[in-house]
Amino acid sequence: MTKTSYPVVWDLDVFFKGGSDSEELRRHLDETKERLASIAEKFNKFETPTSVNQAEEVSNLIEEGSNLAQHIRQAGAFISCLEAQDMSDHKASTLRSEVTELSATYGAAFNSFKQKLAQTDENVWQEFLEHDKLAELTFVLNEWRDAAQEQLSEDEEALISSLSVDGYHAWGQMYNTIVGGMTVNVTVDGEEKELSVGQANNLLSHENPEVRKQVYEKLEASWKEKESLFANTLNHLAGFRLNVYKKRGWDNVLKEPLDINRMQQETLDAMWGAITKHKQPFVDFLYRKAELLGKDKLEWYDLGAPTQENSQKLSYDEGAQFILKHFEEFSPIMAKFSKTAFEEGWIEAEDRSGKRPGGFCTGFPLSEQSRIFMTYSGSMSNVATLAHELGHAYHSYALKPVHPLNRRYAMNVAETASTFAEMIVADAAVKAADTKEDQIALLEDKLQRSVAFFMNIHSRFLFETRFYEERKNGFVPASRLNELTDEAQREAYCDAVNSTSPSYWSNKLHFHITGVPFYNFPYTFGYLFSLSIYAKALEEGTNYEDQYIALLQDTARMSVEDLAMKHLGEDITKEAFWEKGIELCKKDVAEYLELTSK
Ligand SMILES: [Zn+2]
Repeated sequence: MTKTSYPVVWDLDVFFKGGSDSEELRRHLDETKERLASIAEKFNKFETPTSVNQAEEVSNLIEEGSNLAQHIRQAGAFISCLEAQDMSDHKASTLRSEVTELSATYGAAFNSFKQKLAQTDENVWQEFLEHDKLAELTFVLNEWRDAAQEQLSEDEEALISSLSVDGYHAWGQMYNTIVGGMTVNVTVDGEEKELSVGQANNLLSHENPEVRKQVYEKLEASWKEKESLFANTLNHLAGFRLNVYKKRGWDNVLKEPLDINRMQQETLDAMWGAITKHKQPFVDFLYRKAELLGKDKLEWYDLGAPTQENSQKLSYDEGAQFILKHFEEFSPIMAKFSKTAFEEGWIEAEDRSGKRPGGFCTGFPLSEQSRIFMTYSGSMSNVATLAHELGHAYHSYALKPVHPLNRRYAMNVAETASTFAEMIVADAAVKAADTKEDQIALLEDKLQRSVAFFMNIHSRFLFETRFYEERKNGFVPASRLNELTDEAQREAYCDAVNSTSPSYWSNKLHFHITGVPFYNFPYTFGYLFSLSIYAKALEEGTNYEDQYIALLQDTARMSVEDLAMKHLGEDITKEAFWEKGIELCKKDVAEYLELTSK
């Protein structure tokens, strides 16, 4: 291995010098604000086109708009980085509100433009799509048009959107306010601690089963105490959503989430169908895990607990070399790209206090660069996270040649490149493990993820669809929500757990997110979709590289059915496609069972 020393602190000065005091950023924001005022006026004055001669005008407005959006995103990305690197940077929070406002103003103006454009007469519209500058945006433009046609009139939609501030999103905010004020008292190592629910949740993977049990019971009790409040927040935000759907004439509650993810119901059904058929190996895994923990059956609070700790430690440079070496086996371009990211300070990895927990990757569209945030402390799971975030950065890099409007991929394909990159490293780590114990720990980590996607997310999906059906007939009380949750968990985990978490409907934030409905199945989709790409790459090695890049470039300009057909030659409305990804996870189970057999 070559001796290197990559920077562990990122370079943000290339974007705007001087952090949250940056004068460059100040100028950028002021200029953006001025330009926003001028473009918002143009959007407001714009009227539904009546002739193909207006194609040039439409194209110019789109260009001007998406360029401004990039300016807003550039500032937003910079501020996200400032906030994450130092949680006490209050100036960054002030800047954040400024950008949030810019982006809301822009969003509203752009939406009204979209609405008016979408009303264009069919003949003119078809001619627009043949215009040399608009042709490449065909998919996105048709999507705007379809959405507008399926909605109510512009005035009615505007009314809904203004009522939703206090009548819909407010329920989600109220949920956050209540949860933010909740605390749980637990005793860990003889010391009593007052924890936020987020901190308490982290203790559910504590190595000591007594701690886990105690935390689980205390958490369940505190959610129970507030269950009538949460039954209100959930029922009312769901009621608002259902009423809007009803007025628009949509009877399937999944219509909106499916549209957002550019996928068909058949695809979703095929995915869950395949998963349901192949749960047995994961049930076997859960029973083996119970055995290793000295139990007949796992309790709910054992699900996140490891049976082994991985003891391997890698320095940051070693971690980087490990990633680069294994990326190279699949994609020399991705390896070269990642090397640049390591060398040129794209990554903030230093282990120091004051940083926000977790990891992310954010793009700076005007500079065509990304920045990765994480805290690297040398574990194999850190290396996997780093690879994951590099995958996100690589996705942005692959999208560089396409129009900015064709880069906005949906949640279900957002994790394609990241999961792919993470899989490469996770598999390599299992193979490279020095001891059997390390190997077991790494495999278990991978399998925990399969259980999360195939069982936990499945239970959330089952609960949510059933809840929305019942909600159509009126308020669903907390007692019934508990029942629905318990049933969904037992079903999704095939009764392989002894206890459930009936309060899950209240403690999982995802059910209360109003920005996006059904914040669950896209995770499972993304995981399995990415696994089948990985399976293909395993067969073809570096020969697959060009096809992989071509696939990434199409992630935001066609339906997922077309994407899979074009680049994988696969019909994802059929269970057979999904079974291929599941097959890889079943191999992990087989290996795990063998390694842990007595
Ligand atoms: Zn990710």
